[in-house]
Amino acid sequence: MTQTWSLRCSATDETHDASGLPTVSSAGEPWFVCYDTFPDPSLKAALATRPWDMWRYREWMPLAQGEEPVNLGEGGTPMLRVGSVEAELGLETVWVKDEGQNPCGSFKARGLSAAVTRATLAGATSFTCPTAGNAGVALSAYGQRAGARVRVYAPKSTPPRILEQIRLFGADLRLLDGHIGDCGKAARAYAAESSAVDVSTLREPYRIEGKKTMGIEIAEQLGWTLPDCIIYPTGGGTGLIGMWKAFGELAEAGWIEGPMPRMYSVQSTGCAPVVKAFEAGATATEPWPDPQTKAAGLQVPAPLGGKMMLRVLEESGGKALAVPDEALENAAARLAGREGIDTCPEGGAALAALAALVKDGSVGPSDSVVLFNTGAGWLYR
Ligand SMILES: *Cc1c(COP(=O)(O)O)cnc(C)c1O
Repeated sequence: MTQTWSLRCSATDETHDASGLPTVSSAGEPWFVCYDTFPDPSLKAALATRPWDMWRYREWMPLAQGEEPVNLGEGGTPMLRVGSVEAELGLETVWVKDEGQNPCGSFKARGLSAAVTRATLAGATSFTCPTAGNAGVALSAYGQRAGARVRVYAPKSTPPRILEQIRLFGADLRLLDGHIGDCGKAARAYAAESSAVDVSTLREPYRIEGKKTMGIEIAEQLGWTLPDCIIYPTGGGTGLIGMWKAFGELAEAGWIEGPMPRMYSVQSTGCAPVVKAFEAGATATEPWPDPQTKAAGLQVPAPLGGKMMLRVLEESGGKALAVPDEALENAAARLAGREGIDTCPEGGAALAALAALVKDGSVGPSDSVVLFNTGAGWLYR
């Protein structure tokens, strides 16, 4: 079986066919990929013979008959039990989903593999995006893999090792004063005046489909069951939105049963637009005036997917919470020093959030928990 699909606006009833290089809907909102059918649960058995990368789920992905993805072995990352965390917090089961083991050192590989695949199949030979770091590394690598040109806009404050990786993969790197929002404007302007495809978060429909595979993968790794809680360091929100889409599709197709996980979104107190909106009971985020955090992936002051993230948190019965930079850095150091897992600061944020959620009673002793480490720590040093 291969897929056919169309696009549906995430906010209105507008639909669009899947051809060409779609951006956002006429309402300016992100598109969602809507598949015509889902694969039958009997496919589970056939997965056993496939390589452990995200394209093992190709029947769940935007790939038509005869098409091949642009890939570097992304996905198939381990779920690591963290016994010292379980003991310290009095919990039965805590895993770290270690996305730092992806190509290019972060889960951005999944989204960019999917986006570059679709755009290349539609004829694109040039790409651009704004980046707080890891998206730029991944786009540079997948762009090279596809034989395309890449221009990346990053804030000057981006960790130097990440900038080195972007240069290593041969991208045209433009450093700007300001934050990712300013870089986004520059990337859009460049895309408008050239043939470059802008693969900014949620400004094309397919990065979500790549991130969706994190949800399918967790389900498969847990024997087609889901954990009680997922704690996810949130910037643009593609992972949160993508995993929730995965769980909905898997349930609809009869691949999984039972309750859905509670989704918890963690941000830094220095940039927490989702937390602020969630706590106010709002349905949309407001731009965060002066974003400041060492967790570069969380420094997204005005996420385009704000409304969708808030919907996921509400539907799943989870919530959003912020932790200070000092706490997320200490938590990252703890996972390295006690468990040998080299997490990025954003991954540390997930552990710091778990401690807070246990303390306030949101997470109880028998809840099974997946913490997302979204990238490798060495990129930040
Ligand atoms: C991009 C990024 C994030 C934020 O991811 P979203 O899915 O856009 O919310 C978190 N951590 C790291 C390391 C990142 O690179």
